[in-house]
Amino acid sequence: MDRCDAPRGRVGTPVRIRRLSWAGTEITTGGQRLLIDALNTAAPLGGFLGLPRWPLVEIEEIPGRTDALVTHIHPDHFDPDTLRRVLSDDGVVHCHQPIVPILRAAGLLTHGVELWCPLAIGDGTEVTAVPAVDWRGDDQVSWVVRAGDRQVFHGGDTIWHGSWWAIAKRFRRFDCAFLPVNGVIAVLPNFAPSGLPATLTPHQAVIAARLLHADTLCPIHYGQFNNPPVYVEQPNVEGELRTAAAREGVHLSLIPDGATFLTLSPRKSKISCRRVLLLRLRTAMASRRHHDGPADHPCPGTARLDGRAASRPHHRHDRVRAGRQADARLPYRAGPSRGDSLIGAGCGQRLWLPLVRVRTPNQPQYTR
Ligand SMILES: [Zn+2]
Repeated sequence: MDRCDAPRGRVGTPVRIRRLSWAGTEITTGGQRLLIDALNTAAPLGGFLGLPRWPLVEIEEIPGRTDALVTHIHPDHFDPDTLRRVLSDDGVVHCHQPIVPILRAAGLLTHGVELWCPLAIGDGTEVTAVPAVDWRGDDQVSWVVRAGDRQVFHGGDTIWHGSWWAIAKRFRRFDCAFLPVNGVIAVLPNFAPSGLPATLTPHQAVIAARLLHADTLCPIHYGQFNNPPVYVEQPNVEGELRTAAAREGVHLSLIPDGATFLTLSPRKSKISCRRVLLLRLRTAMASRRHHDGPADHPCPGTARLDGRAASRPHHRHDRVRAGRQADARLPYRAGPSRGDSLIGAGCGQRLWLPLVRVRTPNQPQYTR
């Protein structure tokens, strides 16, 4: 099976998300744990980030499988000592392909991925590396994690970039976006100071959360380290977050490190039911075109209502695009008119397949 066609997260599994120290995040589902940028070793950070202002959250070894994701190799995001200690025997560290040799040299079982290529981990979790930009040009990615039927974004310590829109287009929405917010002004030897933030600022993180269609912004990467004059975080980070979130209409969740962000039950909202109904409708429409259309119809799923045959999209992005175009064409309605037929119901909603007129080369016009 091609990695780009890896199966999606299993629907119906509760998901527990816990914030660890700094950028660290823990996602547990179905008896397996996934750590992202887990940090439990402060010593290597002292010269630049300084000492932590409160102790780092202890990361324990637990029964069951533990895998890890790393956004980049800076020591506040890549803690090989901790990973060697807490990963299970079958646990793997997944990272962007270019940094694989560095992780392997640290003695970790490592697997490299390419951007945009989803990868199934264990049972019911899917991860995808997506673009990010590091302040000093090192290799860095963000991660999209689909666990159960939930979707989470983790932004490492990226600065502002132009891929938010592409990520939102691909993944549509997130239950939560973990984004760095300290907007730190950093000074390192051999790097002439720019005076510009080396991570997202609170304002930028709120905008990013809005662009990503995140239900909740959970700020990370702030507060615990501040080491003037070489590592200076933005003043009043939480105040700026609250102001920007109120202005942009973004839901903000300021949770202390070590706390469980939330435990998400399988999705049972009306929106979910509506999606199911739309899928049923799409299937019904495609089936109807397939049975009623010309015999040499190339692909019922991508047929056009005006009868011009569309080529079958083989690439995943094209399939998504074709699906969206199909959505835009669907003439479903929430209430029936004469001649409509009921195609699905749930959560008090009903969707009706209306009377449709379709043109094809062989059959100039017909009605269902
Ligand atoms: Zn960092």
